[in-house]
Amino acid sequence: MPFSRIIGCVLPGHEQSVLNAASLLASRYCLPLSILAADKASNVSNPGAILLPEPPPQAWTAEWMACALFTRLSAVESFLLLLPASDAGTEIGARLSQQFACPFLPDLRGEILVQEQCLSSQRHILSGQALEKLEARGPRVIVTIASREEYSGTPTQISALNFPPASDSADLLVRVLSRRPSKGTQSNLQSARIVVAGGAGMGGVEGFDLLRRLCNVLGASLAASRAAVNCGWISAEHQVGLSGKIITPEVYIACGISGSVQHQAGMRGARFIAAINRDPAAPIFRIADLGIIGDVFSVLKQMIRLISQAHLA
Ligand SMILES: Cc1cc2nc3c(=O)[nH]c(=O)nc-3n(C[C@H](O)[C@H](O)[C@H](O)COP(=O)(O)OP(=O)(O)OC[C@H]3O[C@@H](n4cnc5c(N)ncnc54)[C@H](O)[C@@H]3O)c2cc1C
Repeated sequence: MPFSRIIGCVLPGHEQSVLNAASLLASRYCLPLSILAADKASNVSNPGAILLPEPPPQAWTAEWMACALFTRLSAVESFLLLLPASDAGTEIGARLSQQFACPFLPDLRGEILVQEQCLSSQRHILSGQALEKLEARGPRVIVTIASREEYSGTPTQISALNFPPASDSADLLVRVLSRRPSKGTQSNLQSARIVVAGGAGMGGVEGFDLLRRLCNVLGASLAASRAAVNCGWISAEHQVGLSGKIITPEVYIACGISGSVQHQAGMRGARFIAAINRDPAAPIFRIADLGIIGDVFSVLKQMIRLISQAHLA
């Protein structure tokens, strides 16, 4: 066994994927498990989890986080470190792998096996059309975990991890000067249970107002295809797909979206996919569990009316 410990690093909004996978691996390979949480708002209830120190005001960046982890983990000679496959998790993993000069396997889906000196797993490539098998060796390996479902393990006892005293006043190359919320609906897509997504078929900003009304009655988050983002109807943080976010909600409702392979790359992991499109040959219907062929505006108005009535009843 190349590792002496499994370490899960929990980032805000991505607690469960890392906790599940780290618990599963620790119990399967009888290794001690340590959990590091990036901020006190992290939803980690286990008292054994170690809270990383607060960054200086405004300084929460992947660079700061990688520095904080590097200073602390340098004393641990062998580990398997798990991070979420979010933008921040990927950047932190890449930075740490350069600092530790160790392998980095991003975006893993499916089983993670450790046999003798070798870790193996797989990830989607070519917009989810193929699976790539990956292997890594070494006393230290860093991975990011894409899905929370595949790793449902039994909760494992978290063990203490003693760090040397660390100073976090690293010479950061990037300084965050200010932060302000972007206009419109806040995007919490990666942790949302229900996602309503709009594409070019929504026709404009007014179409997205209709989607927001559906989001309100369903308690859903709003997403979009790249075509809708490119038209300026919604901001880029809502984009799902190959060059946007990869999400795995319980329910994904695609409205006026054709279902290109690039879009599917971001949402085909949803547990239940519903699609509304007037073109019966739209590729989205090939992966949809429920397909509604019709005009998206009249279908959405009926949905909003019926769901609102059901709430009032
Ligand atoms: C390198 C690369 C990366 C990319 N990354 C992404 C990505 O991350 N995410 C992404 O989404 N795309 C991405 N794309 C773009 C992708 O190829 C498609 O162009 C895009 O997904 C199309 O978006 P759409 O489905 O909204 O638009 P369209 O393909 O134009 O589809 C619109 C759909 O709306 C339907 N429609 C129109 N009016 C109505 C109506 N009134 N009622 C019902 N249905 C209606 C039409 O039948 C049609 O199916 C990428 C492309 C490349 C080359």
